[in-house]
Amino acid sequence: MQFYKNGFRGGSPDIKQAAPNRRNRGTNEPLPEKVDVLISGTGPAGLCLAAQLAQFPDIETMIVERMPANIIKGKADGINTRTMEMFQAFGFADKVKRETYWVNQTAFWMPDPANPAHIKRVGRVQDVADDSSEMPHILINQARLHELFLEVMQNSPSRLAPDYGWEVLSLTVDPTTEDHPVTVVLKDSSGVNWGGTRTVRANYVVGCDGAHSSVRKAIGGVLHGDAAHQAWGVMDILANTDFPDVRQKCLISSANEGNILVLPREGGYVFRMYVELDKLRPDEKAAQKKFTQDDMIAAANRIIKPYSLDVKEVVWWSIYDIGHSLTDKFDDVGDATDRNPHVFVAGDACHTHSPKAGQGMNVSMQDTFNLGWKLIHVLQGRANPSLLRSYSHERLTEAKRLVDTDHKWSRVMSAPTTQAERDGTEEPRIIRQFKDNLEFTGGTAVKYDKSYLFNDSPHQALATGEEIGRRFHSAPVVRVSDAKQMQLGHVAQADARWRIYAFAGKADTSTAGSAIHKLSDWLETNPNSPVVKHTRKGEDIDAVIDFRAVFQQTFDQLAYETMPSLLKPQTGKLGLQDHGKVFCVDHKGVGDIFDMRGIHRDKGCLIVVRPDQYVANVLPLDAYNELSAYFAGVLRSL
Ligand SMILES: Cc1cc2nc3c(=O)[nH]c(=O)nc-3n(C[C@H](O)[C@H](O)[C@H](O)COP(=O)(O)OP(=O)(O)OC[C@H]3O[C@@H](n4cnc5c(N)ncnc54)[C@H](O)[C@@H]3O)c2cc1C
Repeated sequence: MQFYKNGFRGGSPDIKQAAPNRRNRGTNEPLPEKVDVLISGTGPAGLCLAAQLAQFPDIETMIVERMPANIIKGKADGINTRTMEMFQAFGFADKVKRETYWVNQTAFWMPDPANPAHIKRVGRVQDVADDSSEMPHILINQARLHELFLEVMQNSPSRLAPDYGWEVLSLTVDPTTEDHPVTVVLKDSSGVNWGGTRTVRANYVVGCDGAHSSVRKAIGGVLHGDAAHQAWGVMDILANTDFPDVRQKCLISSANEGNILVLPREGGYVFRMYVELDKLRPDEKAAQKKFTQDDMIAAANRIIKPYSLDVKEVVWWSIYDIGHSLTDKFDDVGDATDRNPHVFVAGDACHTHSPKAGQGMNVSMQDTFNLGWKLIHVLQGRANPSLLRSYSHERLTEAKRLVDTDHKWSRVMSAPTTQAERDGTEEPRIIRQFKDNLEFTGGTAVKYDKSYLFNDSPHQALATGEEIGRRFHSAPVVRVSDAKQMQLGHVAQADARWRIYAFAGKADTSTAGSAIHKLSDWLETNPNSPVVKHTRKGEDIDAVIDFRAVFQQTFDQLAYETMPSLLKPQTGKLGLQDHGKVFCVDHKGVGDIFDMRGIHRDKGCLIVVRPDQYVANVLPLDAYNELSAYFAGVLRSL
């Protein structure tokens, strides 16, 4: 963590200096009439976007929520490894790791062939494959996650906070203007002046307003999909049980009583149970069946026989039927090429799926992590508004994959066991499918198609483990200035900056004339360099593109004083030297990043990483023209 760059300030380094132009949020202050971005909904999607935009006080952001306050319990709880990597960029991954339940193993229980009325453990699977991520898969109460994002917003320079008690009623887009073309009508739902309306004009509106999204409806989006006609109940409980795996994630299938998913939760006592309740008729909704928490507890006790459950407190419960649906466009322009979008939808507003693959919150936040930096670039004049079209393209493709995989998984979970599975002559299908899905459920299987943002590079062989279109896969390194062991990927913050990682060839120690030195000098001074072309006069040299290097020697074999100036830039109000840009391989047995990520030892390479942590390009260290051309296709010359 780096701080005091602009001068010493006491207190928590998480609290950033407040910007003088921030909105006055006093109780009697009116709502703004115009904003740059209006976000509807304070679920995971909306808060993840707001937390990014909040770092930029030059962008006026407003986030409205129809409820009077943050939720206090319930809803989703699964956070996959990819999302944890993203939390690292927001600065709260360590806090989450400390507080939460880590899913290390998943256990599978099926009917005991000797007595099918009883269940028996049939297998265990390691939940996060070795080196699939440096982060754990965790479970956390959604309300607590909201709080962590709200803290980031509150501590940001713009001191952003939601406007609770305001519901988006309708919106219209004026195609004849680029000056705040979206008019949003808000209804006071707080009870203070209930039903009163206000109008706010925005440059961009993002509907993160859940499955019944009014923003989606306003842009003509329809959710297409189906229901599995299966009622499931969910309960977070404090209970005693003789079921031995209650502190492990478990998938339990009984012979005739249905299925259960057990999810242990934070704190060591509370756990969640998803309980299969009943088949529904095609025209029937779970709510119509009027199931109660007692029905759920009774069903759970039938399913887990010979074990039993003594529930002391039901913390939260809900009943729902599984549905899978997807909208056909994630913005207001769809396939139209003559206009750029001004309205977007994200999260459950554009895709819904069963919670049992644990993807709801994750995919929703990944949607807005994809959109956030693009909005920031466009609003700061760094990129053309056409960049925003890539959001719908990239995330719609991903959402289709999610809905398809989730659909398959839900059916496997609800399917009856076969005789061969019960006899133990065949590995249960649920275990096979679970293993096949691990990368998907971890969130690390996402691979964006080739486009001007994901280069069709002929140089992928220089870094076989950092595939273009996939997230930058972190690995251990040592920071040369202070010999600190760390993860390279953790230098990337949610700050809308690009990263160029230069991996040095074997003999390169950054002496004058070496490939790293030449590249660094070119990046710093040449008029064709993307750093020179896309950084404004007066901005820090790493304000848009953050250049870092990794060497193959140990830190004591490198001479820090010979590192080129772009790797030790002087930035901030005081022009202080940054000592965090030079790394080398960690030789203490935790793994060599060059081996782990398939980096060419002799030639080294350049890896360009987008602000949302996806690998955009892989190039040789001397591919100056290709590097320049790549950035010219995305960013404006300034
Ligand atoms: C009752 C319920 C139970 C759930 N249970 C589970 C579960 O057990 N496991 C699981 O994995 N997932 C569960 N989910 C789904 C999971 O919570 C979502 O996938 C995830 O929260 C999606 O995040 P989101 O930000 O897209 O939407 P949401 O979290 O739904 O947030 C949308 C927000 O928008 C607000 N809003 C809606 N309309 C407007 C409007 N017109 N104006 C202003 N604000 C508006 C809502 O009040 C809400 O705060 C549940 C969802 C619900 C609603």
